[in-house]
Amino acid sequence: MNKAQKYILIVGGAGYIGAHANKILASEGYETIVLDNLSYGHIDFVQWGKFIQGNIADPILLDKIFETYPIEVVMHFSAFAYVGESQRNPAKYYQNNVVGTLDLLDAIVRHNIPYFVFSSTCATFGEPQYLPVDEKHRQLPLSPYGKTKLTVEHILKDYAAAYGIKYAILRYFNAAGADPEGMIGEDHDPETHLIPLVLDVALGKREYIEVFGDDYPTKDGTCIRDYIHVNDLAYAHLLAMEWMMHYNQSNDFNLSNGTSFSVKEIIQVAEKVTGKKIPQRITERRAGDPTKIVGSSQKAAVMLNWEPYYKSIEEIMATAWNWHQKCH
Ligand code: UDP
Repeated sequence: MNKAQKYILIVGGAGYIGAHANKILASEGYETIVLDNLSYGHIDFVQWGKFIQGNIADPILLDKIFETYPIEVVMHFSAFAYVGESQRNPAKYYQNNVVGTLDLLDAIVRHNIPYFVFSSTCATFGEPQYLPVDEKHRQLPLSPYGKTKLTVEHILKDYAAAYGIKYAILRYFNAAGADPEGMIGEDHDPETHLIPLVLDVALGKREYIEVFGDDYPTKDGTCIRDYIHVNDLAYAHLLAMEWMMHYNQSNDFNLSNGTSFSVKEIIQVAEKVTGKKIPQRITERRAGDPTKIVGSSQKAAVMLNWEPYYKSIEEIMATAWNWHQKCH
């Protein structure tokens, strides 16, 4: 694609991962347009390209955008992503993540937009049957959130077969860290993720971190996750998009570091990086948490030549801490 003439529409580009993707795409010379309703996104995160405030469930707005700009690729980051909330209020999740995405896809089909990049999640796999989890692993999500993402994966496959749209499904493991230049980072409201909460404790904004269960069958009894830097995720969007356009094919990729850390280890790393003591309290297990999940990104390594740049958890934590001190 001629970078200067075709646009990439970044839906949800004011959110955590979408904003990092926008920065990387813009720095590579692509023209970007962010569409975000700012329900969870931050206007300050939109520092590159154009900005349009609006909803994916607004066909008139979508028609106008696709008629105005020669958009070649849509990247779709906009989704509700709180597992617990999805269990309490599944209607909100199916409405936005599935019905809203269908509205977006239907506009894409109406306007013959050829390429679509979709933010999916390791939550589509559920409790792993084997580790590391690769793309062939069976998908049996535990939460409505994971089910909404898997439903869209199914829809994409059917839309590709029927309407010829090409897609890249990217399944993130635990996104972590922040822009190394400190311009954007993680800022959810409410915050539920382990690393920003631990850093809040380091900043003195919370008294202690709750550890959700220490009786799991793991080395120290706490859950194990695979943390991947947000910039590595963002960079994978660029590579997957270029792969898709070069081969004119669809594919799915797991994006992970392949390393694993328990909740207690994350707290220790945060103590080391911040130089602060981080008090913890053991509480009940959180419903729907798999014991251990670690991903394989071999497929992305072989096909996209993608490899995480941030391999050390200390480095990932340091970028998160740098941002956290500025923004909180
Ligand atoms: N976790 C925790 N206390 C918290 C938040 C998270 O013990 O206040 C645990 C959670 O149970 C999981 C891990 O930290 O095992 C990572 O959780 P997070 O919400 O960051 O990401 P998830 O794995 O749910 O996508």
